[in-house]
Amino acid sequence: MIFKKKRFERKVILQKNVLDSILSYCQMKHPNEGILILKGKSKNGQIKIDGLVIPPFNYTGPTFAGFPHSFLPFDLSYIGIVHSHPSGSAEPSVTDLHNFFGLVSLIVKSPYDDDSIFAWDSSGNSISLSIE
Ligand SMILES: [Zn+2]
Repeated sequence: MIFKKKRFERKVILQKNVLDSILSYCQMKHPNEGILILKGKSKNGQIKIDGLVIPPFNYTGPTFAGFPHSFLPFDLSYIGIVHSHPSGSAEPSVTDLHNFFGLVSLIVKSPYDDDSIFAWDSSGNSISLSIE
């Protein structure tokens, strides 16, 4: 067995009250997708999410959700987006990866409970997610 120098483990930490807001927003948007900007900070591979912003001019339907990035103010605390998949799959679509914004993409699938949320990086690899 070879021991390598441990690299920073990537991890997303989501505040419980932010999770609750995400879940109720997505429930409200159902059967359309909902989309929100994640606010927080990143340090040593750890991404802490502590707030949400409703993107201006966002558009959503049953299989898509987006917003024009050009309308966003330059804000370093915008570290990713979360959107919902009413169809019940938490895998990022090709379109999702193409429209990747920031450091992390959270996807919430129906039925929008505490176990319905997953974190992905820009290559579509899953990142561990913890709620606190
Ligand atoms: Zn999607």
